[in-house]
Amino acid sequence: MRRIARTLAAAAALLLAGGAGASPEDDRGRMVRDIEQLTAAGAAGSLRRLEPRVLDAMRRTPRHLFVPEAVRDQAYSDSALPIGHGATISQPFIVAVMTQVVRVQPDDVVLEVGTGTGYQAAVLSPLARQVYTVEIVEPLAASAAERLKRLGYGNVTVRAGDGYAGWPEHAPFDAILVTAGATHVPEPLVRQLKPGGRMVIPVGRRGDQTLTLIEKDARGRVSRRALFKVLFVPLQERSRR
Ligand code: SAH
Repeated sequence: MRRIARTLAAAAALLLAGGAGASPEDDRGRMVRDIEQLTAAGAAGSLRRLEPRVLDAMRRTPRHLFVPEAVRDQAYSDSALPIGHGATISQPFIVAVMTQVVRVQPDDVVLEVGTGTGYQAAVLSPLARQVYTVEIVEPLAASAAERLKRLGYGNVTVRAGDGYAGWPEHAPFDAILVTAGATHVPEPLVRQLKPGGRMVIPVGRRGDQTLTLIEKDARGRVSRRALFKVLFVPLQERSRR
């Protein structure tokens, strides 16, 4: 009797770990198919298809090496996960969509605000020339920098600091991704966007955020488009001016 219970417990543990003997590559293949289905079904509003290179980047990035040990078995479920300090690693679907909507090109210099684990920066890495990422919680910035270096993401630079102010030394940027929810679009980030540049940012009150695409045209005119509702941890707005 006890042996049967033990066998059942072991089988359940395997199932929870994502299926019998599945490799991280298999798990990521499944995750990417889920993301494609969600997008096709309209979960990202009018965006119904993600480019193959974005899907490839998602397939190549080992999310299980970015999440804390305690939630590693859920690394390839399509959900946000806690990473400590009140922060979360975003849902893979959202990471893919944000990467897509800013249309990152191979020569682009990209800024991310809200490094967290460094996962979004790692997804951007093979798609861009250089990725700069700012994180306000120092221990998160330090561990993301160490992790990205260890995993060989040589074109990602992490800084601890307040990303509300952007990163003027490396501006202007072709693309900016803000991965925390802001009450308004920070003016310094709009200034640091290149003509022709794109920024994606969750905007709104807590519990009512809209993923928003900001574009600056060749003549410097700024336009703004609401995409769909999202849920992000708040952007700290200390250096608000
Ligand atoms: N992109 C991350 C997840 C981001 S969670 C990943 O892939 O893992 C949002 C992050 O934004 C948190 O780590 C939070 O500490 C950070 N943050 C909040 N306000 C910030 C600010 N003003 N400047 C920089 N980072 C900020």
